Amino acid sequence: MRENNNTVTPAHFIRQKIAADLAAGKYPEGITTRFPPEPNGYLHIGHAKSICLNFGLANEFSGRCFLRFDDTNPDRESPEFVKAIKEDVKWLGFDWGDRLRHASGYFEQLYQWAVELVENGHAYVCDLSAEEIRATRGTLTLPGSNSPYRGRSAEENLELLAQMRAGEFADGSRVLRARIDMASPNLHLRDPALYRIRHQTHHNTGDTWCIYPMYDFTHPLSDAIEGVTHSLCTLEFEDNRALYDWVLEHVSIPSRPYQTEFSRLSLEYTVVSKRLLTTLVSERVVDGWDDPRMPTLSGLRRRGYSPASLRDFCNRIGVTRNQQHVELSVLENCAREDLDRTAARAFAVIRPLKLVIDNYPQDQEEFFEAANHPADPSRGSRAVGFCRELYIEHDDFIEDPPRKFFRLSPGREVRLRYAYLVTCTKVIHDEQGNVTQVHCTYDPQSRGGNPADGRKVKGTIHWTSVRHSKKAQIRLYQPLFKDSQPRFSSPDNLHDSLNENSLVTIDDAQIEPSLVEAAVGNTFQFERLGYFCVDRDSAPEQMIFNRTVPLRDTWARVKAR
Ligand code: ATP
Ligand code: MG
Repeated sequence: MRENNNTVTPAHFIRQKIAADLAAGKYPEGITTRFPPEPNGYLHIGHAKSICLNFGLANEFSGRCFLRFDDTNPDRESPEFVKAIKEDVKWLGFDWGDRLRHASGYFEQLYQWAVELVENGHAYVCDLSAEEIRATRGTLTLPGSNSPYRGRSAEENLELLAQMRAGEFADGSRVLRARIDMASPNLHLRDPALYRIRHQTHHNTGDTWCIYPMYDFTHPLSDAIEGVTHSLCTLEFEDNRALYDWVLEHVSIPSRPYQTEFSRLSLEYTVVSKRLLTTLVSERVVDGWDDPRMPTLSGLRRRGYSPASLRDFCNRIGVTRNQQHVELSVLENCAREDLDRTAARAFAVIRPLKLVIDNYPQDQEEFFEAANHPADPSRGSRAVGFCRELYIEHDDFIEDPPRKFFRLSPGREVRLRYAYLVTCTKVIHDEQGNVTQVHCTYDPQSRGGNPADGRKVKGTIHWTSVRHSKKAQIRLYQPLFKDSQPRFSSPDNLHDSLNENSLVTIDDAQIEPSLVEAAVGNTFQFERLGYFCVDRDSAPEQMIFNRTVPLRDTWARVKAR
């Protein structure tokens, strides 16, 4: 399978396993996978890895992939999240067709299976409190002890389970537990809870239920209902696999799925825990789930990442069982390579310095043809207005330059891209000695930027014209966290780790006028500066651009220091 024309999907152990299973004739009807998000937050880049894996493998092997909402926890879930997750999966480029499911849609069937477990003596209603259960669970080195309720008869358990369902007991007063082995070396097998009482309205089932199945019971059975063949999940569920298998082996299921684990994605300078992302949103550290600094798919979209660049990223990082802490430059390079191909070029000046061309007639103006994409002439060109007064980037002028500075300084000649050669003749300062304006003369024989006598001019800088350009807001982003591996004992000490320069807003940037027509979500390369995306709050009267990434990878340099 190929993507983006230039990257080949690497082989990985899950792909190899599926290929081997199919070759062995295990799945004559093809494979089935699922992506099972809990609708308690927005999707992030780690989910993208799982989506690309599950939907990607199904596509590749002509199988099926379900989008299943794992919605068994009514207190944290909401329709807002369901909607956002669907949008994000679609945006990323995947189609679940008619395979949209909710674990809550299986509640009746799951309950019937719980009854079956009880009938066969494999589950019992336990009246211990959560605390008592924890205290009798044992430790990694000590076995747990049996609950005094473990010996209840099937009849009594059936009666109690029915009463639990009927709402006769208070939250937390009883649970349904699997009867497995309180001395098992695997703590997950020490009579885990299967159902708990929770008198709470569910976003999908309303008040139909006041008992809710636990993840470890719901997940394998939902897989079985859907005919999932390969249930792919992250490594923290490795120890749950024994329970996954136990559940499937003790009820009459229509199909037998198998779980395989892979490592979670984590990204430098970023957190992908939903709990922490939720805190960032609720404490207004960021401007919502789609803040361009968030590692959420909606944040990355608002930042200017395309779906193709994120799929490319997921493809490059691969799938293994080793801990994965990916450098930010890997993600940013995917954006750069993608945007280099797709983004139209434009002129903008982020920190404007006025440049006056003294020998250019006051009332004259000219237009220069500027290519929209250097590698793709079919994308045409636009006319860029030029006049006597221009803005250049403040950084492109140094009064007393170091030796290798080839841009503008007193007496130095540079090329104004597409326009003329200019030589700096005078510098104006304010009372504090800051440079506020530079004066130049231009060479009328250098139209287009090439001098008639063929002399070499090394530096080329970009510009906008005072008469034609428009003011815009530009937002420059850096990671939200100072530390490349942010670690928190709790969301409370998250604030100490925040990078206070993660957002720099510039209100008086200057952009070429063609950009005023740009639609929300459009991306551009501002020449010599980087890639920028029109923000969702942008409007023609007040354009707002988010910097997706700078032009070059600056991380390598930061690290070398
Ligand atoms: P929580 O933090 O609330 O436990 P979660 O991040 O595990 O949630 P889910 O909605 O349960 O989120 O995840 C849906 C699927 O995405 C799961 O199969 C999970 O394994 C996968 N997933 C979540 N985070 C990552 C990650 N960082 N890397 C790869 N896969 C992930
Ligand atoms: Mg989870």
